[in-house]
Formats: sequence, C-alpha cells, structure tokens
Amino acid sequence: MTNIIGQYVRMVTFLFQRQGIQLTTLFYLRYIQVQGGIKLFQRKLIIFLWRLAIDRLPTRLNLVSRGVDIGNIGCSICNHGVEDNHHIFFSCLLAKEIWRKVSLWTSVDINRFASWSEWLSWYDQWEENISNKNRMYTIVAATVWVIWRFQNGVIFSENPMRKDEIFDSIRNYSYTWLFSRSKKQMSWNSWLVKPL
Ligand SMILES: [Zn+2]
Repeated sequence: MTNIIGQYVRMVTFLFQRQGIQLTTLFYLRYIQVQGGIKLFQRKLIIFLWRLAIDRLPTRLNLVSRGVDIGNIGCSICNHGVEDNHHIFFSCLLAKEIWRKVSLWTSVDINRFASWSEWLSWYDQWEENISNKNRMYTIVAATVWVIWRFQNGVIFSENPMRKDEIFDSIRNYSYTWLFSRSKKQMSWNSWLVKPL
C-alpha cells in the first residue's frame, strides 16, 4: 500500500511540475495523506480532486476542446452557461444552492468561491485548528464529488440522483470518510447539527 501511495505521489509531482501547476494543490493532496485520509479517501476520489485541480475532468467544454463532437457545450444541469469546471462546481445555480446549504450547516462562509483554486487559497489562509481544517476539507471534497456524481447521473444514468438527495449525500460521504475507520468518533446526530 505504501508503495502504491509513494508511486502515486511521485507521478502527481512529476505531472504538476511538467504542467507548471501550483504546488499548493499538490500540498493539499499530500495533506490528505498526512492526515490519514489516504486510508479513508478512495483512490478514485483523490484522482478526481487532482483532475479537478488541473482542469482535466471531462466537462463538455474540455471534451469539445479535445475535438470530441458532442454538439452542445451548455451546462447539462441548468442549461444556462458553458459547462466548464468553474460552472459545474461553483457558478451553476445548483452549485450555488448546495454551497449555501453547506455554509449554513458548517457555519463557515464558503459559498463565495468561483473556482477550486480560490477555495484552496482561502483554505490555506484559514486560521483554524487542524481537526476542523481536516473536516472542512473533507466536506468540500464531498461536495464537489457529489455534484460531479449528480451531474454525471443527469447525463448517463437511467435512475439519476434527485436534487434533494445531494445535500444528504454530502453529509453522508464526509461523515463516512472522516469517521468510518478513525479512532476519533462523532455521533451522526451531532454531525448533522454541528460538524465543526
Ligand atoms: Zn449550470
């Protein structure tokens, strides 16, 4: 397991250097690992976050710019705006609604970011204890993860997630990732009321 992680970190480091991507993002991938998250975070989630950070998710805009003929680059959720990663995760009306709910739930004002890098720069400066920082990062990771799953469901699934399931799903994922195999515990009810 350690070897796989080592190889993964080296691969990411190489790609980040090659593409001139801010190393802060790499730091947060490491941060997840240092905090023990690697055991909890699925590898596919880490890869998803990495692809989000370097804008390599298969959004409609990215597909078209790679020459894939999909006809329409409008957002598959709201149909108001070009479907790029900033739109899907931050400026889409649905995303805004979800961030507002997450902000209310966590009592942290995180519904004002326009991009993943904006969120990361804020997070970097955020003076909080490590436990709350860890929780907040996990909640935000769960938020983008669930939005992406929802968006994919709209396009590909015969039985897509409903909009009103998104927020519950975020609370579920983040709780599982944080506490399922951790010695630190928190009751589900406390989590729903006051996650930080
Ligand atoms: Zn949209």
